[in-house]
Amino acid sequence: MRTWNLLLTAALLASMSAAAQQAAQSQPSAQPPAPDATQTAQPAPQAAPATDQPAPAAQATPDASQAAQPAAPPAQAIPLPAPVAAPTTMDQVVNLFIEREHGLIKVLATRTPVVETYLQNLTADPQLGPVPSEDHYFLGRMDMGETVDRKDYLKEQDPSMQSRLLGGFHKLYKVQYQPLGFSWMVYADRTDFDREHYDFRYARREFLGDVRCLVFDVTPKPKSGRGRFLGRIWVEDQGFNIVRLNGTYYPAAHNTFFFHMDSWRLNLIPGYWVPSFIYSEEGDFSAGVKNRMAFKAQTRIWGYDLKKGGKDDELTQIRVDSVTDESPTAQDASPLQAERVWQQQAEDNVVERLTNAGLLAPEGDLDRILQTVVNNLEVTNNIDLPRPVRTRVLLTSPLETFSVGNTIVISRGLIDVLPDEASLAAVLSHELAHIVLGHNLGSKFAFNDRMLFDDDSTYQNLGFKHIPEEEQAADKKALELLKNSPYAQKLDNVGLFLKALQLRAPQLSALLTTHLGNSLAENGTITRLSALETQGPALDNNKLDQIAALPLGGRVKINPWSDKAEMVKAAPVAITSARDKMPFEVTPFFPRLARFSAPVAPVAAPTTAAANSGSGN
Ligand SMILES: [Zn+2]
Repeated sequence: MRTWNLLLTAALLASMSAAAQQAAQSQPSAQPPAPDATQTAQPAPQAAPATDQPAPAAQATPDASQAAQPAAPPAQAIPLPAPVAAPTTMDQVVNLFIEREHGLIKVLATRTPVVETYLQNLTADPQLGPVPSEDHYFLGRMDMGETVDRKDYLKEQDPSMQSRLLGGFHKLYKVQYQPLGFSWMVYADRTDFDREHYDFRYARREFLGDVRCLVFDVTPKPKSGRGRFLGRIWVEDQGFNIVRLNGTYYPAAHNTFFFHMDSWRLNLIPGYWVPSFIYSEEGDFSAGVKNRMAFKAQTRIWGYDLKKGGKDDELTQIRVDSVTDESPTAQDASPLQAERVWQQQAEDNVVERLTNAGLLAPEGDLDRILQTVVNNLEVTNNIDLPRPVRTRVLLTSPLETFSVGNTIVISRGLIDVLPDEASLAAVLSHELAHIVLGHNLGSKFAFNDRMLFDDDSTYQNLGFKHIPEEEQAADKKALELLKNSPYAQKLDNVGLFLKALQLRAPQLSALLTTHLGNSLAENGTITRLSALETQGPALDNNKLDQIAALPLGGRVKINPWSDKAEMVKAAPVAITSARDKMPFEVTPFFPRLARFSAPVAPVAAPTTAAANSGSGN
């Protein structure tokens, strides 16, 4: 079961070790490992030779039906949009995307995805430019069926501005049946996206990733009401769905304003582009930060395929799986076996409940990478546990790890900012140490009644925090595990990471506030693995090859429909100044857009007519 597979890790983690390798090669320009797709940001103006002819008719004709009916039918009962006749004028294109937008609003009306917004207020640093001065975090569920009411705009000098930015309430993971702060921009206009309220002007063609788009400027007609969309939309040229919106709302009431947003959609199900990422930024940085309100914020939406989390639904969702049936033999369980089965029952309950609440990614490829790292620690320390250690990814941004039974959970945000495999091993080693030391938590969750709660009270009902004595013991054991491991020679990098985290910790309290496990910090001081913090060289912003921590969003990609997590595939980008490092920072989104393709599609493709008339495989 356990094998020495360092080589496998190396291959799997090629992108994670990119930083170290490139630093070692001492290229003229040091390159960070897989920074955000945002950094490879190609505004992609390499569009088709830009004949500015509005009519996409010729190109659209053969493709239109293909786009409307991709290879595989959706697993969910979502009706495919009717095939569109190829438009021959821009006017027809406008009609088509208006119709498609209404189709999307209708299809998503029954959905209540998870919405997460992470916001960093900014201040000016002479060397590093705008840097975080404070941060805020919001997590909730959004009812896509509710009408967006834009009366919730911002008032300048409104003391509650911060909370209004985030949707006007603070309770984490609340199911809120109205639009939330930054998630307004899932649609341009929920109720009145039509020719009566807007003028549409064709601008040009442009590729976003693999997808050719028609770009339109959208302006509200005079006297069409407050809070109308003002900006630009990108419409893909096969099914004529909006794939990106960029702009703000207009006009605002006197002495108020709307913030600016860049909203991206992904083709996650056949025929529809689903709102997935929204970046927002305010403030003038031309000579330092001038505005009182200067911030950058990332909003992520996922969990579209989750069951609606209403109270009534919740009870009907409960599945009473009989764990005792899994007892391997007909023999009686010894007291120790009974204890272990009990612990596993609790562990399985918690993992299932967190997955159903949209907080854990389903088991996937990323887990195999994490498990390989854990396995490296186990093998080199001769750890032999009665059950294998599993790993899962928490879908949220705050930096956190916890373990329940033999399952180690690590947050997406933490994987994002870790500079290399050794640092990943370090944060995992702390949880492995808890498991090895038998610091078992959560056995009370073996009682199924304890799983009967609403999604929005997940954080109130589940928690896996250890007492300080267990934390210290786990850190001590973790150091021991690391020093015997293949990562022993790379602990300097871990030290650098902890120093970088300590430097920013006072400003990033929201990112360091954990919701299920112990925090990495206490009162602004990093406590996790603090013995390693003194290890390694001093932090030096001027050393461009010293990458102590990465921006958020650089490593893990979440599929907002299925919640599946995978590693980002981004080419390294050269760092040219200290400002490019952006440790723990929020950056714009620039996902590489691609059309939906069925996960398992060995379709030979070209001649569907032949296939239909054929011999049925
Ligand atoms: Zn711990």
